[in-house]
Amino acid sequence: MNVTHLECALCGLRHEAGVLQNLCVECGKPLLVRYDLKAAGQTLYPDSLKGRESSLWRYREVLPVRDWNNVVSFGEGWTPLLNASRTAESLEVAVDLYIKDEGQNPTQSFKARGMTAAISMAKELGVRKVAVPSAGNAAGAMAAYAARAGMEAHIFMPADTPRANVIECEQTGAHVTLIDGLITDCGKIVGDRKKDEGWFEVSTLKEPYRVEGKKTMGYELAEQFNWELPDVILYPTGGGTGLIGMWKAFDEMEQLGWIGPKRPKMVSVQSATCAPIVRAFHAGERFANEFENAATVASGLRVPKAIGDFLILDAIRASGGTAVAVTDEELVAAVKEVGAAEGIFTAPEGAACLPALRKLIADGFVTGGERVVIFNTGAGVKYLEAFQ
Ligand SMILES: *Cc1c(COP(=O)(O)O)cnc(C)c1O
Repeated sequence: MNVTHLECALCGLRHEAGVLQNLCVECGKPLLVRYDLKAAGQTLYPDSLKGRESSLWRYREVLPVRDWNNVVSFGEGWTPLLNASRTAESLEVAVDLYIKDEGQNPTQSFKARGMTAAISMAKELGVRKVAVPSAGNAAGAMAAYAARAGMEAHIFMPADTPRANVIECEQTGAHVTLIDGLITDCGKIVGDRKKDEGWFEVSTLKEPYRVEGKKTMGYELAEQFNWELPDVILYPTGGGTGLIGMWKAFDEMEQLGWIGPKRPKMVSVQSATCAPIVRAFHAGERFANEFENAATVASGLRVPKAIGDFLILDAIRASGGTAVAVTDEELVAAVKEVGAAEGIFTAPEGAACLPALRKLIADGFVTGGERVVIFNTGAGVKYLEAFQ
C-alpha cells in the first residue's frame, strides 16, 4: 500500500513500482519492494493489529497491493506458533522450542503466503496468464490462487514431483507439464516460452512480490512472541524466499520502531544431496554454485541453484547463523519423531530442522536456555510416497 519503488537487491538500481517486471534490467538479479515506512507506521503499529483479520493481510500497510479489491485470498498466514516441549525434552540441552506450523496454510504449505501476494499483484497489474516452474508446492499454490483470480495457470514440474502436487494442480484447473529433469530445467522452458505465450512468470525471486508475502512470517513471529524475536530460527531452504523475506521484515520492523537491532541467528537447513547453500556458506562464498545431481525426497529443498543465493548467504552471515545439511534418512525419520511427540504430521522439509538442531547442539552452536523456532513449511500428507 505504501510502496515507493522496487530496488535491485544486488546493484541497488531503482525500478518504478506499479509496472509488471521480473528482474533487474541491469544485472538480472532479484528486485525487492521498498515502502514509505513512515507513512505505513501512521496506521500500522502493534496496538493497531488487535482485532485485525487472522491472515497475513493484517499487515496490509507493508504489503504491495494498492486496491483492496485485487486481493486474492483464502485466509493464508497467521499460522499457529506451537510449543514443542515434548520434542525439546529429547534434546541434550534444555531449549525453549517452538514449531511455526505452516502446514496449516491453504494448499498445505507456506507457498500460499507468496502466491497470495504474487497473484494479487498480477491481478492488479492486468495479468491474464501466469506460469511457474515448481518443485511441487509452489505449483499447487499458484494453481489455486490463479483459479480464484480467474487466470490461466501454466505449470512445469519434474516428473518425479510428489503425486499430490500434480493432482492438486490438475484438479484446480491448471495446465500441467511434467518434465524429465530438475526445477532448473523447468525454469528454462518457462523462460524460453513465456514471451510467445504471453505468460507472466512467477518463479520465486524472479517475481518481486512472493517474497513480500513470505516476509509476513517475520512479522508474525515478532507479534506472536510479543515483539521479542527468538534466538535461533531453523529454516529449510530451497530458493530461500522465506529466509530472505523474514530478514527483510526484521529490518522493516526496526525502522518502524517495533524491535531493536538484535536478530535471531538464521540457520539454513538443506538435504545433504542438495546442499548448495551449505556448501557455499562453509566455503566462504557469496554466490552458490549449482549443486550437481541434486536429489531429495524433500522436494521443496531440491533447488540446485537459487537466484537469491547471495541474499540467503548475506543474511545468514549478518545474523551470526550457519547452514547445516542432514541426510534424507534423517529427515524422513524426523517426520515420525515430530509426529509422535507433537501430533503434527510435518513435511519432510520441516522435519529436517530437528536433526539439524541436534547437530547444532552437539557442536555447541545452540546452547541451553535459547529460544529456538523451527519452521514446518508444509503438511506431510502431500508426501505420501516418502513414507513407503
Ligand atoms: C518451497 C518449500 C521450501 C523451501 O522454501 P524457500 O523459501 O523457497 O527456501 C521448504 N519446504 C516446503 C514444504 C516448500 O514447499
